[in-house]
Amino acid sequence: MLARLGLVIVIACCMALPLKAEDYLVRNQSEYAQRLKQLEAGDTIILANGEWRDFEMVVTGKGAKGNPITVRSQDAGKVLLTGQSSLRIGGEYILVSGLVFKDGYSPRGEVIAFRRSKTDTAHNSRVTETVIDGFSKPDRYDDDRWVTIYGRSNRFDHNNLIGKTNKGVTLAVRLDSEESRENNHLIDHNYFGPRPVLGSNGGETLRIGTSKYSMFNSNSRVENNVFDRTSGEVEIISSKSGGNVFRGNVFLQSSGTLTLRHGDNNVVEGNVFLGSGKDYTGGIRVINRFQTIRGNYMEGLRGEAFSSALAIMNGVPNSPVNRYVEVEGATIENNTIVDSRRVAFNVGADEERSAAPSKTSFANNLLGGLDGISFLESYDDISGIAFAGNRHSGGDVQPQLADKVMSGAIEMSRGASGLLYPTDEALADVGAPRDLRVLGLNEVGAPWYPKPANLPVFGGSGNIVSVQPGEDTLVAAIAAAKDGDVLELGPGAYIVNRTIPIDKSLTVRGAAGKAKPVIQFGRPSLFELQEGGDLQLQKLVIDGALAPDSVGNSMIKTTSFPIQSNMEIELDQVEVRGLVVNKSFNVITLGKSALAQRVAITNSSFSDITGAVLSASAETEDYGQYNVEYLDISGNSFTNIGGPVASIYRGGRDESTFGPNVVIAENSLTNVGKAPTNGTGGSIHLHGVQIAKVDRNQFDGSLPLRIVHTVGTPKTQVTSNVFDNTAAPLFEELIFEGEPRVEQSGNEAFDTIVVGDAQ
Ligand code: CA
Repeated sequence: MLARLGLVIVIACCMALPLKAEDYLVRNQSEYAQRLKQLEAGDTIILANGEWRDFEMVVTGKGAKGNPITVRSQDAGKVLLTGQSSLRIGGEYILVSGLVFKDGYSPRGEVIAFRRSKTDTAHNSRVTETVIDGFSKPDRYDDDRWVTIYGRSNRFDHNNLIGKTNKGVTLAVRLDSEESRENNHLIDHNYFGPRPVLGSNGGETLRIGTSKYSMFNSNSRVENNVFDRTSGEVEIISSKSGGNVFRGNVFLQSSGTLTLRHGDNNVVEGNVFLGSGKDYTGGIRVINRFQTIRGNYMEGLRGEAFSSALAIMNGVPNSPVNRYVEVEGATIENNTIVDSRRVAFNVGADEERSAAPSKTSFANNLLGGLDGISFLESYDDISGIAFAGNRHSGGDVQPQLADKVMSGAIEMSRGASGLLYPTDEALADVGAPRDLRVLGLNEVGAPWYPKPANLPVFGGSGNIVSVQPGEDTLVAAIAAAKDGDVLELGPGAYIVNRTIPIDKSLTVRGAAGKAKPVIQFGRPSLFELQEGGDLQLQKLVIDGALAPDSVGNSMIKTTSFPIQSNMEIELDQVEVRGLVVNKSFNVITLGKSALAQRVAITNSSFSDITGAVLSASAETEDYGQYNVEYLDISGNSFTNIGGPVASIYRGGRDESTFGPNVVIAENSLTNVGKAPTNGTGGSIHLHGVQIAKVDRNQFDGSLPLRIVHTVGTPKTQVTSNVFDNTAAPLFEELIFEGEPRVEQSGNEAFDTIVVGDAQ
């Protein structure tokens, strides 16, 4: 108060001097709160370096143009907001910079909100050089947004948003009040870091608007941002309002697309999509009226359907606001698409989505697909699209599109930007502009904060630790191990008397060229996967003889607490035997709110097991959630298994996810699935799996293969299997009306079911 009084006196005495702004260093939350009450335009609060725990920070006040109220860190990146922390900004002309949110999560619906309350939204305010890293709520289905921009004329720039694992948009712009519309926000030079697969709707990285207010313009500009591995769901960006501009952004290895989901008159221009051949990487999905898609560059994209390089959708006639407004008056010009899987028209055409695009121009695009793979497809009427000047090279073209593009080899070379362009001068006006810049990683985010590398899951530390046989030697070795270590077990017997928690990435393997070590365990589970855990087992024998009879026995299980991180589990050359102590003893059980990015079971043998080999069917509420993204079961033998080899469940009608994606190949299944406790009706049960390949397996005396399709366009191949003494596969469609959509070839069946051997 005295300082403020002093300032007033100084001003009164020296009227000729400009107003002197003050810098105030504050050391704790009460000093901060005290100081906040006394701020004037031009003042700066400096947060002292260090940890600010459980800080629900609020900034509000009236700054002025060119003279904002500033809250910043003493040194950039040295102020950590941890625990239950958040930031709310009200007022106008507020500037916040230099904060890092980590080691905690927001107790509120947002980490950073551009409003203090419903009636105090931020205007002309800016958040810059601020980091939110891993600040996710622990339960993946507990919803929040990391950043929500309300109000008008706000800027969010040079920030890092890394690793959101729970449900809810990473950055949202809201239009839910009159004063939040026509908002002219600027979102630029941010680093949107890896967002792992959520396994449900709600994994968008950026959303502007909602269906309810999608008839309003947002006029937000999203420029010069990098989206690096932002693969939460099929929409990387969901634009749900009008008048937005997406320009100069770079998408790296990001599954999904920039989706113009609702709202009209948006511009998508000069963006670069580099998929590097990663699954489901896509470009732009077009819905609604008067959209402009111009001068974008796409390379190495592998998505199809909703995740195609370009997906021009069919709409719903007189669509309700939350469905699909038909494409009308779109301009899609001078885009380059090379080395990509699919460009598709009338995507989503069905009885409801029956309105084809109209008054649309598709011109001067350079289109390059993958040899031998269908590239240009349409699923309905394309007479409302004017095609002109398009060139095509590589990938197959459906007959109805053949006269819409000029096909033929095009010689390409890389320009200074690293992008591919035709060498023929005559094609200078085709494809993306020659001066398109590719924004560098060093141009986005806070310059002082590292961007995460793309490291291998297993063996990353480079350490190999030898473990000797004995009682609990393995327990001690795992407790002492570091993330990325390899534990190498010599021949002999290993007795494990407690369930071993796995909260890091570990490899446990038998030494090369020696007899496999034998592990026995005296608890209902051998391994429990926890937050941060990944497990690779190689060249081991695991024997269940010492396990006690307990409900829910499982050699590997997940903790009953939710797990944020998507785990990986690999078993290779492992022999698992004698899990028989109770009626349903599984090998691997993935529980609720756990998602494995990948489970691979290869070159292994399983015998005398009463339960399932892999149970990934805990998400039974039919919200489109599931427990495993990629599953590979190849080259194994399964003998006398009471439950199914794999039970995968993804229920409901949601269309927002990529997986599950399942390969089951070259296995033998003998007497599998026949225990009365197997409720799945199959020796393999896949429910709602999006992509499945069941190939060259030998079924003998087992329950049938059972595949149930739910929503979307599942791709299922069942090829070259032998069904001996095993009923024919069961294929069911729950929603699609028609014959089950299964590609079958080369399967052989021997109808030799012995009477009395009924299931
Ligand atoms: Ca979505």
